[in-house]
Amino acid sequence: MTDPAPDSAHIVPWQYSPAPVPRELANLRSHYRMFLGGEFVDGDGESLTSINPATEEVLAEVSGASASDVDRAVAAARAAFERSWGPMPGSERAKYLFRIARLIQERGRELAVLETLDNGKPIKESRDVDIPTAAAHFFHHAGWADKLDHAGHGANPRPLGVAGQIIPWNFPLLMLARKIAPALACGNTVVLKPAETTPLTALVFAEICEQAGLPAGVVNIVAGADDIGAEIVAHGGVDKIAFTGSTEVGKRIRRTLAGTGRKPTLELGGKGASIVFDDAPIDQAIEGIVGGVFVNQGQVSCAGSRLLVQESIAEELLDKLHSRVATLRLGDPLDANTDVGAINSATRLDRITELTDAGDSEGARRWTSPCPLPDRGFFFAPTVFSDVQQSMRIAREEIFGPVLSVLTFRTPDEAVAKANNTSYGLSAGIWTEKGSRILWAAQRIRAGAVWANTFNRFDPTAPFGGYRESGFGREGGRAGLEAYLDV
Ligand code: NAP
Repeated sequence: MTDPAPDSAHIVPWQYSPAPVPRELANLRSHYRMFLGGEFVDGDGESLTSINPATEEVLAEVSGASASDVDRAVAAARAAFERSWGPMPGSERAKYLFRIARLIQERGRELAVLETLDNGKPIKESRDVDIPTAAAHFFHHAGWADKLDHAGHGANPRPLGVAGQIIPWNFPLLMLARKIAPALACGNTVVLKPAETTPLTALVFAEICEQAGLPAGVVNIVAGADDIGAEIVAHGGVDKIAFTGSTEVGKRIRRTLAGTGRKPTLELGGKGASIVFDDAPIDQAIEGIVGGVFVNQGQVSCAGSRLLVQESIAEELLDKLHSRVATLRLGDPLDANTDVGAINSATRLDRITELTDAGDSEGARRWTSPCPLPDRGFFFAPTVFSDVQQSMRIAREEIFGPVLSVLTFRTPDEAVAKANNTSYGLSAGIWTEKGSRILWAAQRIRAGAVWANTFNRFDPTAPFGGYRESGFGREGGRAGLEAYLDV
């Protein structure tokens, strides 16, 4: 006799005692300053208020940059490029990168708690994924700094000069590392703008640069709103732009840079598909789907936010999926047991609500996890839409929240056609026991990353990037070096 298939009504979630990580580890200060030419200074722009999205309390005031601060930052970066960093042998640059990597590790607990306070993501994500991967980017690129001649980009590749880098709020320190580590390894200097809602770990990273003895002006961090990002993009003294963020802003940046000869790297939005074939190990696939869309509150550009499941197993999979998602613990991001933390801002929460309402009005079937929501803060319960049609907004637009849209298919060709029926092309997952089917599907799916029987695995050695409206250029690995070299 087999056990009846579990459904959400039969599941009693495990009870956990609270396991809060002390917020004091973050060494939070009431005021943070920009890092410009090797000094911490107050900018002339409007200051920013950073809030904890899980409680809506004010965390800190952050000094904001003006256009003239951007000028000063670019001038400092140019001077450092010409006088210290550009001429420095790669083997010397490598030592600084190794030092930075080790300091990120040493200050890892502080950075993880600060990231969780500022961003709202669960501490187990920031502690076990974001911060270690940020350190790994510096370790990896430290190894490249003296081997650029052998990286396959021609003999004697040269740095580009000053790199302007603009990052979003979903992986603040990790995105910073993905941008700064290759830029420095290749001999460029940097002006970086963190997102308006998550500037704190970038400013602590500036302290790490100081601790590592990095020459003044090699890394400059300017906090500010979107107009400061636009200033950096338009600045004539910047030789390269690396941007991670929305497709809409990416297009605007591309237009600004057209004809200037300045090299862009654009890492933009996505609407990834997980394809589950009827021979897939279902429990393993469910873990991957959960990790691919509900972890980090779905605020991952390469989230598998569309699930394509073969019709013959759709009912069984959906039932098991509901049961599993119902066990996810939503709440205090600083609690080590929390699976789903806070949405980063009220604006983001409104956008998720708008799109899920559209799912209702367009006729999809909504299932919401029965987890209780905290009274304060920006939270959204994990949600699964079934009976989704390709024309619906929840199947086409990036929701960037803990929301999964489930569609079905009958044949492998139909699965690939539906996976590719998107203006994006960042990620996809294939779940099947047949190796030949994995290779067949991976060759046909137009996405920068295709995972097989797993999802959302990252490594600094692997290039990452998108097709179509998901971006331009690659970051990471040997391929990612090219973005920072004159080859
Ligand atoms: P966003 O609005 O495009 O903002 C990203 C960054 O650009 C922020 O620092 C923002 O500043 C700045 N910015 C805004 N307007 C600008 C402009 N006109 N010129 C220059 N900079 C400007 O993106 P988001 O909504 O915050 O971030 C989420 C998006 O990022 C999603 O679409 C997600 O898919 C994408 N993403 C992609 C990847 C990837 O690797 N492909 C990774 C992570 C996220 P403010 O913060 O002040 O607005």
